[in-house]
Amino acid sequence: QTAPDLDNKYLTSPWGDIQVGNETLTEFVFEDIELWADKPAVTCGLSERSYDYGMLRMMVERCAHALLGPLRLSPGDRLGLILPNIPEFAVIAYGAMRAGLVLTFANPLYTAEELRRQFSDCNVKAIATIEMFMPVAQQVSASLKDYKGTIWVGGEDDGTKGIFGLRPLLMADHKSDLPDLNCDDVCLVPYSSGTTGMPKGVMLTHKNLVTNLKQVQCPSVMKYKGEKGHGDVLLTVPPFFHIYGFNAVMNYNLRLGYHLVSIPKFTPESYVNCLVEYSPTTLFVVPSLLAFLATHPLVKKEHLQSIDTIMVGAAPTTDSMLEKFLLKCEKTKDQIRLLQGYGMTESSPVTLMTPYHYPYNKVGSVGQLICNTQARVVSLTSGEMLGPHKSGELLLRGPQVMKGYWNNEAATKETLDSEGWLHTGDVAYYDEDHYFYIVDRTKELIKVKGNQVSPTEIESVIMEQPEVADVAVVGMPDALAGEVPKAFVVLKPNYKLTEKQVYDLVAEKLTRYKHLEGGVAFLDSIPRNAAGKIMRNELKVLGRKPKH
Ligand code: AMP
Repeated sequence: QTAPDLDNKYLTSPWGDIQVGNETLTEFVFEDIELWADKPAVTCGLSERSYDYGMLRMMVERCAHALLGPLRLSPGDRLGLILPNIPEFAVIAYGAMRAGLVLTFANPLYTAEELRRQFSDCNVKAIATIEMFMPVAQQVSASLKDYKGTIWVGGEDDGTKGIFGLRPLLMADHKSDLPDLNCDDVCLVPYSSGTTGMPKGVMLTHKNLVTNLKQVQCPSVMKYKGEKGHGDVLLTVPPFFHIYGFNAVMNYNLRLGYHLVSIPKFTPESYVNCLVEYSPTTLFVVPSLLAFLATHPLVKKEHLQSIDTIMVGAAPTTDSMLEKFLLKCEKTKDQIRLLQGYGMTESSPVTLMTPYHYPYNKVGSVGQLICNTQARVVSLTSGEMLGPHKSGELLLRGPQVMKGYWNNEAATKETLDSEGWLHTGDVAYYDEDHYFYIVDRTKELIKVKGNQVSPTEIESVIMEQPEVADVAVVGMPDALAGEVPKAFVVLKPNYKLTEKQVYDLVAEKLTRYKHLEGGVAFLDSIPRNAAGKIMRNELKVLGRKPKH
């Protein structure tokens, strides 16, 4: 490995460059489908509902026609998904992209308020959901302008309510003019709070997503296990409604002809049943799931014998957890390939990955730059490029980096500088072999079990209370969840609120993982710097102090 060229002021990938993606996403995912058309593509691990590749491709095509036909959507319109990990997620997502629509997805457990905020921000024209989330979808759609209709997966048509059953839509085999697409078109707008503030729409193009699949597929990084790809069975829990589950898991593995088994709702029993039933070869996990596999008494050594690869992403994991997992399997480091990756919604998501031949002395590392990706690690104070083993902010550049934030020029400028560097808000260093290590975050983001939590969003809910003068929310370390949010509240003079009242207030408005499991504390004032910015690190230290 050559020394970093500090004059050049950035590091490049050891794997060189590949041709960027000129295909559209649906086209790319199904490019080699003739090789495995009769093989299983997606299976629901709970209901065992399953589609093979040929069937999936046909449903996708019919879905694209139906979206432009009976749904009356036009290319460029936004379609919102309120769906858990079910096989139809793939049908609708690829169908929408083939039709030139722009997809946005959200955690189906979001409250109506959270969904309304996202879906009205990007002006969603239609929603796809399942029966369980129909009431919330109806509530949200009532406030959307120029709304065209709701697709009900597993349900029937109800013309009076503008509801279209997915099955009848696909059965009717509608014909409409599918548009010619451009790989530079935006096709996905997932939401991320980025380095600061409320969640924002991240504009990703076909080219961003397809290039990222090609970068990860580069043989030195992931390497096909079989000549033709298929043969592997993947058990996946990371949600398809997060960029990691969507691109790095669903798109990546369907592109290679693998069998994707997913469960819409994680329970220890359902997960273990799937391990027994499908004998997966590869697991895609977030650190909290790895902890479950390593420590939960229901998971036995014999359940883990088919596994040869385990991919951990979305949040930091520890060496000791990896060790515990190997101990549980009674396998050596040579028998299970552990892969770690680092990324962001804003980068489609992968930017760093451990290579195929991953030296185990680098276990704490998130790997090296993938093809076509450049990095700088800059001093938090001077902005100068730093050499090996020095921590600073990680900046990244590559063809997988977003076009910008949806309708938010100011936030785009703050995150993407004029030279195209994505300011990650993560603190990292690289070693002499250019392996990267993530050590901290300068941004406000809290990650709970791999899910994004924006402190600003929780703060704005608490600030709505007439009793509250000021508030700050920070992430506190948690053994299982990684981090949990904690609120520091300043009350107005002569006003009262209890810890429980603040907790309940947030619990009522925001989804489960945003609840204040780190607790609530009352302060006389929130520490702020001269510019009025909350000094979150100070609060984190304060939060750790035991109560007297
Ligand atoms: P998201 O956009 O939800 O994927 O969140 C991106 C953020 O998650 C990154 O900026 C990091 O703070 C964190 N993250 C993702 N992957 C890792 C990893 N392997 N190790 C440490 N932090 C990570």
